[in-house]
Amino acid sequence: MNDNNINKSIHCSVYSCAYNNREQGYCKLDSIKVGTHESNPTEKKCTDCESFMLGNCGSSTCG
Ligand code: SF4
Repeated sequence: MNDNNINKSIHCSVYSCAYNNREQGYCKLDSIKVGTHESNPTEKKCTDCESFMLGNCGSSTCG
């Protein structure tokens, strides 16, 4: 992580993630792993951030 505790190379709006910086909309991790839950991904929605971890907002719908 950089001095500001965010990685400006990874923009992210998944505010329910424990690694998201809500104020600025960046990921706090040095790197992330992107994967897929499909056998033949053909659209954006087929991809997943596999580094996601639910934050402590107490709900899967926080954000
Ligand atoms: S780990 Fe993935 S979902 Fe979580 S803030 Fe980083 S890029 Fe977003």
